[in-house]
Amino acid sequence: MQRNSYRIVSYKVKHNYDVKNFLSSYRYLLQKAIDVIWDNIEWKKKGKRLIPLIPKSKEFKRSLRNCLLKNWNYASHYVDSAIKTAYSILNSWKRNYLKGRRRVKPVVKRKFVRVKETLYVYRNDKIRVTVKPREVYLEFDLTKVWFKKRVEGCDLGELILKEDELIITFRKPHTPPNPSKKIAWDLNLLSMDSFCDRGWIKFDLKPLYTLHITYENKRRRIQRLSKTKPKTAKKLMEKYSKRYRNRVRDFLHKLTTEIAENFKDYEHGFEDLEKQGMFTKRKTHNRVISKQNWKQIIALMSYKANVRLLDPRNSIKTCPRCGGKMKHRKGQVLECRCGLVINRQLNASINLYLRMWGFPSSMRVWEEFILPILRRSGVTLKGDETDDLLPMNPEGAEVDVSQGGRMSIKDYVR
Ligand SMILES: [Zn+2]
Repeated sequence: MQRNSYRIVSYKVKHNYDVKNFLSSYRYLLQKAIDVIWDNIEWKKKGKRLIPLIPKSKEFKRSLRNCLLKNWNYASHYVDSAIKTAYSILNSWKRNYLKGRRRVKPVVKRKFVRVKETLYVYRNDKIRVTVKPREVYLEFDLTKVWFKKRVEGCDLGELILKEDELIITFRKPHTPPNPSKKIAWDLNLLSMDSFCDRGWIKFDLKPLYTLHITYENKRRRIQRLSKTKPKTAKKLMEKYSKRYRNRVRDFLHKLTTEIAENFKDYEHGFEDLEKQGMFTKRKTHNRVISKQNWKQIIALMSYKANVRLLDPRNSIKTCPRCGGKMKHRKGQVLECRCGLVINRQLNASINLYLRMWGFPSSMRVWEEFILPILRRSGVTLKGDETDDLLPMNPEGAEVDVSQGGRMSIKDYVR
C-alpha cells in the first residue's frame, strides 16, 4: 500500500476573538446532525447481533441538510462541514461497535469548528475565515509566525477554530522515494532491526521496554495502596498514567523522526501487522504491548516518510539463501540445512528486504545482492546475542494500551 505523497502538519495560532457563541452553535449543530443520523439508523439482525446500517442516500442527506439549515445563522458551508464530521464520528463509532466496544450514541464534548477550504481565503500571508457571509470575518495574520519557514511552499488544508486558538493544517510533500533505496524493518521487543544498502542497522527499543516495566511496577504498588487510601491512589494513578503515556509518545516521536531523517529518500517496508495475526499465534502480554507500540511506530513513520506494508508470511523462518525452512539453533540464532547460520532479526529483515524488491530467496540473489552488502558493511551473520524474550509482566497485571499517540487531524477531532 502506497500512502499519499504528502503529510499533514499542524500549527497553532492564538487569537482574541470572541467566538463562544459561534462554537456553541456549531457544537449544537454537530450534535443535532449526529442525533438525526442516529435516529435513522436501521438495525439489521444478523444471527444474534444487531448490525447498524447508517443512512447514506442522497435523499436522506438532502433532508438532513435542510433540517440543519433551519435556525442556522452562520455560513451554510458549516452545515456541510458538520454533516461530514458527524458521518466520520458515526463511522468510527460503528467500527468500534462491530468490534464489541462502545454501544452508546456519541456525544460531542469539545468546542471546535472545522473550517473547510471553502470557508476561508488565504492571501498575502493572511487567512480570512468567513463566519457570516458579508458580515462577520475573522482574520489571522501569518506574516510573523515562528513556523513560517517550515511551511514555505506548502498548501493550506483544513482549519480548526477553538476558543482561543486556530489550528492550521498544511500539506507538506514527502521527499519522493528514490527507486533504488529501500529499507526493510523487523520490529522486536527490544530493537527495531533493518536491512538496506547500508547493511544491518538496529535501533534500540530498550528505553521503551524499561518504561513499560517501570510503569507496571508503579501501577502494582498503587493498586496495593488503593485498598487503604482509594482517593490518593486514584490521583496517583492518573498522574502516572499520564506521565507514562507522554513518555511513550515522546520516545516514539523522537525515534521515528530520527529514522525518517537518517533515511530520507528511502522507501520503508514494514510487516503488515493486521495480516500478521493470521500467521503468528503467540498472544502473550508482552507481544500485545509491543504490538501496540509497533502500530504506533508504523503510523508515525507513514506520516514522516514513505511507507509500504509488506506481506508478513514466512518472513521469520525462511532461509534467504535457499528458500528452505530454518531451525532454531541457540539464543537468537537460526540455522538452515544449506549451512547458513544467521541472527533471527537480521534474517527477518533480509527476507523483508528481498520482498520489497520482489526477489525470490535463491543462491544467486544471496550471492550477488545480499552478500556484497553484508561484506561492505562488515556485518557478521550471527550478530550480538541479546535475548529479546525477557518476561515483562511476570504477575500478569493488565496495562491499558488503548491510549495511542494522536497523530492525525481526524484523531484530534474525535
Ligand atoms: Zn538455506
